[in-house]
Amino acid sequence: MAETKSGELMEKIVSLCKRRGFIFQSSEIYGGLNGFWDYGPLGADLKRNVKEFWWNTMTRWRDDVAGLEATIIMHPKIWKASGHVDTFSDPMVDCKTCKARFRADQMNEIPCPQKPSKMSNECHGEKTEARPFNLMFETTVGPIKTDDSLAYLRPETAQAIFAQFKNVMETARQKVPFGIAQMGKAFRNEVTPRNFTFRSREFEQMELEFFIRPDEAVEAITGTVARPLGPGHPGEPQPNWGWQMWHQYWVEERIRFYENIGLPRTTLEEYWQKPEELAHYARATVDLLFKFPFGTQELEGIAARSDFDLSQHQRCSGRPMTVFDEELKAAWPKLDPARQTELRDRYRQARLKYLTKAGETVEAAEKQAQADAEALTKGYYVPHVIEPSAGVDRLTLALISNAYCEDQAPDEKGKLESRIVMRFHPRIAPLKVAVFPLLKNKPELVAKAREILALLRPHMTAFYDEAGAIGRRYRRQDEAGTPFGVTIDFDTLGEKGPELKDTVTLRERDSMKQERVRIADLLPLLLEKIR
Ligand code: ATP
Repeated sequence: MAETKSGELMEKIVSLCKRRGFIFQSSEIYGGLNGFWDYGPLGADLKRNVKEFWWNTMTRWRDDVAGLEATIIMHPKIWKASGHVDTFSDPMVDCKTCKARFRADQMNEIPCPQKPSKMSNECHGEKTEARPFNLMFETTVGPIKTDDSLAYLRPETAQAIFAQFKNVMETARQKVPFGIAQMGKAFRNEVTPRNFTFRSREFEQMELEFFIRPDEAVEAITGTVARPLGPGHPGEPQPNWGWQMWHQYWVEERIRFYENIGLPRTTLEEYWQKPEELAHYARATVDLLFKFPFGTQELEGIAARSDFDLSQHQRCSGRPMTVFDEELKAAWPKLDPARQTELRDRYRQARLKYLTKAGETVEAAEKQAQADAEALTKGYYVPHVIEPSAGVDRLTLALISNAYCEDQAPDEKGKLESRIVMRFHPRIAPLKVAVFPLLKNKPELVAKAREILALLRPHMTAFYDEAGAIGRRYRRQDEAGTPFGVTIDFDTLGEKGPELKDTVTLRERDSMKQERVRIADLLPLLLEKIR
């Protein structure tokens, strides 16, 4: 029953997205292309607002994060170093009877093409062995197709941040701890794209790599490493924070971000990956899950990735990714010798573990780990990283699902009728305000409405609509999720007396309350509400 309801809800959402121009199937006139989606007029603005708010909160409004916009196609060695060439794959299985192809770990969830009402695993056809399927899209660079011209469309935006780490740090004049943020397209040849835009083959990501000192350096500088005392936001960053505090800080900052665009904490779930689920280099990963109509699924992952990524690029490119930390250099000689030995040894062990896993011979790994530990004592280390990685399309879908609401509203004659209203937070709503002259055949009303539109447009997305009954126009904007409507009537023109001259009706989408507002107060009032 619950499943049918959520299926129905999803159908309504998909239909509204198409009808109102949020999301269309890509290449629809040719039958569509599985896993690819286009954003229509409302969707494009919604998505843009989400990205802009992310960019503002993660870079522009912070001192300690710099931005980057890198290319989609990069040197293929980047993907070798990151591990994507060798391990970025899903287990794929074919059904020999119904010919369905699906991820072995999702066999219970994919409809059988021959009997769509049944799941694939109910088709008793013989299955092939699971085999790895690399999700990266391949392409060639240059006019001649050879093995040397092979390149990939990036499957994530993060790697460019590591590859440009030194350039950004130097030009932005940053010191660890600091972050680099990037958003942009990513491509994954998903075996089974599904759930509308949730799992697409082309999508956008918003990623931050926040570089921090290794705990041994923090301990050498501040004497101790602070650890989380309990749940909740740990407050302003402190010099004695190790990776655990930074990780908790970013989980909480990201939840705040969602709260600020209308996804309350109650719509989210934190999933802390179990030790056996973690990648070998990861110390902790928290997935922020959202309750989509089709199930509670990942919106964003926040991972503490140790120094794995920069270390890999250091090894594979031969370029140093170490930073020099003046405070560490100054602090080290002041430590008592036993402490020095302990910290040096702990650091050496961690480096040894990484180098061995990376495939170095025991001898080479030991030599390098020893050298790295010596470098630490002089103030050099490869930074560790905390990575909050979010998907723009998944978030846009979450916002659309969360905003969708059916309720009752009075029509022209005061009779209640059902309405669909998209309750977007004003901060991300595609249109902030709609301007309506009461009648389109009264030139004075139209002129005044156009004047108000011109007043508002430089500051916010404002939509002009003069067609049809006013109630109908309100309903259209409710479906678009426009939080405010401004109606210009005969009172505005002063026809019913001087006291209402130059006032308009301001209607609020969710409560449907209307108030009379002076035109002179309109702009500051709206700016306050959409900020
Ligand atoms: P999943 O397990 O759902 O495939 P993932 O763990 O592989 O996701 P990451 O590699 O951590 O995802 O990517 C970070 C974010 O990018 C995800 O949290 C998600 O929001 C987004 N993302 C990843 N794959 C897709 C996709 N195929 N379509 C849309 N968004 C995606």
